[in-house]
Amino acid sequence: MRLILLGPPGAGKGTQATRLVTKHSIVQLSTGDMFRAAISNQTGVGKEVKSIIDRGDLVPDSLTVRLISERMDEDDCENGFILDGFPRTIAQADALAGLLAGKGLKLDAVVELKVNEKILLGRIEKRAAETEGGPRSDDNAEALKKRLDVYREQTAPLVSYYDEKGTLCTVDGMADIDDVAKQIDEALAGV
Ligand code: ADP
Repeated sequence: MRLILLGPPGAGKGTQATRLVTKHSIVQLSTGDMFRAAISNQTGVGKEVKSIIDRGDLVPDSLTVRLISERMDEDDCENGFILDGFPRTIAQADALAGLLAGKGLKLDAVVELKVNEKILLGRIEKRAAETEGGPRSDDNAEALKKRLDVYREQTAPLVSYYDEKGTLCTVDGMADIDDVAKQIDEALAGV
């Protein structure tokens, strides 16, 4: 199974991705995690992206697309994957379509975690207060708000992009974790 999880920071993508990975024996491909690993290993990519990520901006598409394409070719992706944090722009979605076609793979579904922005801001501020000084240098109130703005401007248009392609399933991301999980399972049962 090959899925995209779509939703703003704080929507609970990571939590749901972890569960789906176990349930469907697939891997989670999180571009955010990949970049954080590159930063902590001080690779060339890591050095290139650190300041961009710290301020909550997007890493250039060319670099992101190359990284994800290479990752998809690894053996553990054979059974499928869940894309978390990618694509984040229409250009990335177009690039993904090309990548998948080139690799002879099909996307099964795009799951949108729909959230209420006001409540989400509250969650995000709480997370920023709890995690400030923690492992993620971009989890401070300022960078989180910036990420939310970037989501609204650049990533939210993907909802209608995938809706038009007929691959979109929308679930209520503000429900309890278990309830969101149930909604996702029901949506995926139909694909
Ligand atoms: P969150 O969903 O909590 O905002 P992520 O872990 O998905 O965070 O991403 C953290 C940061 O990594 C982003 O703010 C951005 O700088 C960079 N990043 C992750 N995925 C992408 C992507 N697909 N395109 C460009 N930049 C990305």
